[in-house]
Amino acid sequence: MEVAQTHIKVQPIAESRLSQIDMNDIPFGRVFSDHMLVARYRDGKWQEVQIEPYGPLPMAPSVSSLNYGQAVFEGMKAHRAPSGAPVLFRPQDNFRRINQSAARLCMPPVPEDIFMDGLRELIRLDSAWVPSAEQGALYIRPLMFATDEYIGVKASESYIFCIFTCPVGPYYAEPVSLLASKDYVRAAIGGTGSAKAAGNYAAALLPDRLAKAQGYNNILWLDGREQQYIEECGTMNVFFVIDDTVITPRLTGTILPGITRNSVLQLLQDHGYKVETRPISIYEVQEAFHEGRLQDAFGTGTAATITHIARIGFGGEDITLPAVAERKVSNWLKDTLYQIRTGQQSDPYGWVEGV
Ligand SMILES: *Cc1c(COP(=O)(O)O)cnc(C)c1O
Repeated sequence: MEVAQTHIKVQPIAESRLSQIDMNDIPFGRVFSDHMLVARYRDGKWQEVQIEPYGPLPMAPSVSSLNYGQAVFEGMKAHRAPSGAPVLFRPQDNFRRINQSAARLCMPPVPEDIFMDGLRELIRLDSAWVPSAEQGALYIRPLMFATDEYIGVKASESYIFCIFTCPVGPYYAEPVSLLASKDYVRAAIGGTGSAKAAGNYAAALLPDRLAKAQGYNNILWLDGREQQYIEECGTMNVFFVIDDTVITPRLTGTILPGITRNSVLQLLQDHGYKVETRPISIYEVQEAFHEGRLQDAFGTGTAATITHIARIGFGGEDITLPAVAERKVSNWLKDTLYQIRTGQQSDPYGWVEGV
C-alpha cells in the first residue's frame, strides 16, 4: 500500500456556525459541522490531505461516481463521555470495512493514517459540535467516490475521500413494523450486499416506499435465491429470540457485516446467552409466533443501536411481537451498548477510544 503523507493541512473556518444551532433540538441529518476532511487520490497515490470548511466539492457531471455509482461510505458516531471528552466506538472496524467495500468496487484503499489521523484531527477541531450524551451524538460520515471525468464504464483513476460530520439528536427509535416481501431483493450472492456501496441504498428506496404505502416502516429483506431466509431489516442487521435462543443470519456475502451486530454477538456470548448464527427463514419465525415461542426481534445499527420490531407483515398476516417492556434481551442490549458507547460503563473490550 502506498504510504501517504501524514501531514494534514488545516484551513479553519473564519467563523464557526455552531452558535446558530440549538443542540437541544437538532434537525436530523441536515446540519453539518464546521469542517470536513478531504483527501485526493490521483496518479496512483493519495495526494493532498486537508481539513477545510464544510461545503460543496465542485465536480463535472461526467464524473464516474455520479454516472456509475462507484462510491462507498461508512457511518459511525462520536459520543461525549462523562469526562466531557469525545469518544469513538470501534473506529478501526469502520476503517477496515470501508476498505473492504472499496476493494469490492475496484477502488484504492484509504491508508490508515489518512482515515484514523484525519478522523481524530477532524473531531478534535470540531469537538464543540459533539452533543452531550443527553443531547445526542456526532454522526460521522466517511465517503469515497470516483472523480474521473470519463463516460466509459471502468474503474476511475482518481478519487476523493472525505469525512464530514453532523450532530444528531438522541435517537428515541419507535418500534418498527416491517414488511417481508418477495417482490424485491436487496442483495444476491456474489453481489455487493456486504459492501456499504452507495447504489445499494438507491435500489432499496422503491421497495421501502411501497412498504410505507402499506403501513409498514421498512422492508424485512429475504434472500434472493429462495426468498425465505431473512437477511436484514431496512439498513440494519436483524436478530430474533425464539425459545430463549438468540438467532441472527450468518454472513454469506449478502449481508452487511455490522459493527453493532458484532458487538451484540460478543456481549450476548459473554453473558451466557444461547446464540446461533445460522439461516433463519421467515416461515420459522411465523411458526414460532403461532406457537407462542417468538420472544423478541430487533434491528442493530449505528444510527439507533437497537431498534425493537413491533410486527412483521408476511403472506397477508401480521406476526406481532410482545410488548417492548417484556423484551429482556433487546432492552438489556440497548442499555448496555448505550452505556459503553457513551463511556458511562466500563468497557472491557477496548471498543471505546478517545480522539
Ligand atoms: C451500515 C449498515 C448496517 C449496520 O452496520 P453498523 O456497523 O452496525 O452500523 C446494517 N445493514 C446495512 C445494510 C448497513 O448499511
